[in-house]
Amino acid sequence: MAAIIDGSAAATQTKDELKQRISDLASHGIVPGLCVILVGNNPASHVYVKNKEKACQNMNIYSQVLRMPEESSEAEIVNKVEELNRNPKIHGFLVQLPLPSHVNTQRVMNTILPAKDVDGFHPINLGHLLMGEAGPVPCTPAGIIHLIKTTGVTIAGKEAVVIGRSNIVGKPLALLLLRENATVTVCHSHTQNLAAVAQRADILVAAIGKARMIKRSFVKPGAVVIDVGINKDENNKLCGDVDFTDVSEVAGYLTPVPGGVGPMTIAMLLRNTVEAARAQLL
Ligand code: NAD
Repeated sequence: MAAIIDGSAAATQTKDELKQRISDLASHGIVPGLCVILVGNNPASHVYVKNKEKACQNMNIYSQVLRMPEESSEAEIVNKVEELNRNPKIHGFLVQLPLPSHVNTQRVMNTILPAKDVDGFHPINLGHLLMGEAGPVPCTPAGIIHLIKTTGVTIAGKEAVVIGRSNIVGKPLALLLLRENATVTVCHSHTQNLAAVAQRADILVAAIGKARMIKRSFVKPGAVVIDVGINKDENNKLCGDVDFTDVSEVAGYLTPVPGGVGPMTIAMLLRNTVEAARAQLL
């Protein structure tokens, strides 16, 4: 039976470590400030933003949510971004995705000041990631690397297979795994013989968005399996991309959904915010 990787416990530990850095900042009169721009009524986005707000409580992080109506124009959203770029109380902010379809998402993201880009999605920050330079790293991939490390399994030299090539999870994660010296394969919707490729993985990450698609036939015995997916099954129950019950019988380590990657993603957002605030001291 797989050992369960407890993302909630790992997130609590990361937040406890951050508290020391936050109190160091307080001694310099700095309270880290995080803002989320939330446009429209996407129900999942509202849940994520609520979780982000909750996480800031008891952390001495100033948090703010700017809610904008669904029909907001691209120019209105860009104006808000530019206000936040100038706001000295806000050290980091993000625009919750997805944006309404009439808005050019990339154009909005490109206006975020890279130093305040706590999601790490600005092309300049993604460029830093590609080059192995310092800068904010996208939260979900950063959290995944942290979770893999909690198992004690060495990443260097291992076969890592990432299923999914989105700009927010799959691609940046592949770069981080390369940085950790894994041998990395990225799979996607055009990949042939997916189960056979996935079976090579010592570290398998599913970031697909398809409920319980990954079965035991995809998993090498003893592998570390990280489930990024957040889906609703046919009974409207929250589940990941991995069939937890089936895969737990062959994997060495496995993240649950909920309680795996999700809490760690939020902890990394707080870490990026604190780092953005600490940059003021340099
Ligand atoms: P996306 O839709 O942008 O990308 C999905 C990827 O899966 C694509 O690259 C696509 O090629 C690939 N794919 C689709 N069908 C496939 C198939 N049959 N075989 C192989 N590959 C296939 O999604 P995303 O934004 O990367 O998110 C993926 C999942 O992770 C979603 O369920 C999302 O809700 C979840 N997510 C969770 C967190 C978290 O904090 N836990 C953060 C981000 C995303």
